Amino acid sequence: MNNTADVIIIGAGVHGASLAFHLAQRGVKAIILEKKFVAAGATGRSSGLVRMHYDVREDSELAWVSFQYFRNWKEIVGGDAGFTRTGFIQLVAHEDTEKLKANVKMHQEIGIPVVLIKADDVKRLAPSFITDDIELAAYEPESGYAMPSDTANAFLNAAKKKGAHLVQDCAVTGIIVSGGRVKGVQTAQGPFEAPIIVNAAGAWAGKVNEMVGLDLPYDTWRHDTMFVARPRQVGPSHPTVIDFANEMYFRPEGNLTLVGLEDGNPLGESPDSDTDHAKKGFVERGIDRICRRIPIMENGALHSAHGGYDGITPDQHPLLGAAGPDGFYLDCGFSGTGFKTSPAVGLCMSELILDGKSKTVDLSIYRPQRFTEKKLIVGEHPYSSIWK
Ligand SMILES: Cc1cc2nc3c(=O)[nH]c(=O)nc-3n(C[C@H](O)[C@H](O)[C@H](O)COP(=O)(O)OP(=O)(O)OC[C@H]3O[C@@H](n4cnc5c(N)ncnc54)[C@H](O)[C@@H]3O)c2cc1C
Repeated sequence: MNNTADVIIIGAGVHGASLAFHLAQRGVKAIILEKKFVAAGATGRSSGLVRMHYDVREDSELAWVSFQYFRNWKEIVGGDAGFTRTGFIQLVAHEDTEKLKANVKMHQEIGIPVVLIKADDVKRLAPSFITDDIELAAYEPESGYAMPSDTANAFLNAAKKKGAHLVQDCAVTGIIVSGGRVKGVQTAQGPFEAPIIVNAAGAWAGKVNEMVGLDLPYDTWRHDTMFVARPRQVGPSHPTVIDFANEMYFRPEGNLTLVGLEDGNPLGESPDSDTDHAKKGFVERGIDRICRRIPIMENGALHSAHGGYDGITPDQHPLLGAAGPDGFYLDCGFSGTGFKTSPAVGLCMSELILDGKSKTVDLSIYRPQRFTEKKLIVGEHPYSSIWK
């Protein structure tokens, strides 16, 4: 294989894969270098929620553009991302009801199919849920979840058909810079050359930034999830839900329910730590939490639990754009919510790299320089940070 390309992408998670696909669509040859295998990082452990509810307009816009891909995957990308429509309910704490209304208005302005519903509507959609504490909820009837590893593989398969090269078992160990410009990378399989290098290394991206002397606020974030076999009384399925009031989210998958918690996600651990098992105490907390919303779940049975690591920034938003030596770009730091936006982020990053500006959705709020400029990202009607 020729070790020279137009662009080198470090990391074959869903973001490296999406960027490779969108560059290939424009006839640009990318080499994707992956230290393990496709979706070995956060992507392979992602809960895969696909929804548009955010308190930052650009986040919702990226999720909405991405939603068109999930809904029409075969036509746009080919293969299968495993999108399943379940309907999505966003529940908030009582004191956040006004913010919910304002955010839903913002989503409707974008064109997102969403309505405000009351407690009795939630009860009709999900009879087994406790709804006494709900005043209003946001309901996205079209949303649901998809399969993150399938999504990454579908992007890469389509990119490869148009000339992209994927090299697995190929850890990038250094970045070659000369005269203030990137020239290539050193890897476990020898050097590769390209005038543009993109850091899409997820929880490991801080280490890649260090290779070019970039000192940006960047941490690792651990998140455990569990699958519970649903008791029959809950019914054959239920909507996908983010439940701020109980600091958790959950969604169905066949006769299982996946549960994740917003609190107790440690920062700063090595992303190479054990992810095959959840941390001690997680399952007990998860069961307690899901039973608060669906009491009959106490008759369920634990199926499995595991963890994953993503990169996180101080405002829990990604780093997207150029930084450091000329030709070096960041596409990382998705802070535990980057799966659903991956199609649009790849498109917008390809526009930014090839045209100098992203036109589909303006990525400038995500610029890596925002921390030194003290312009952290915050919504107009902000909820508290999702991860506590
Ligand atoms: C448990 C969990 C649940 C989640 N649930 C959701 C959800 O429901 N919805 C949602 O939208 N988001 C969710 N997220 C977040 C989402 O999964 C991530 O934001 C997204 O997958 C990040 O993709 P990525 O490509 O940036 O990183 P990754 O998937 O981590 O990919 C980075 C890749 O880079 C490789 N790499 C690292 N260093 C090097 C190197 N030096 N050389 C070569 N390769 C390297 C790694 O091996 C890895 O494969 C969740 C995350 C976790 C952990």
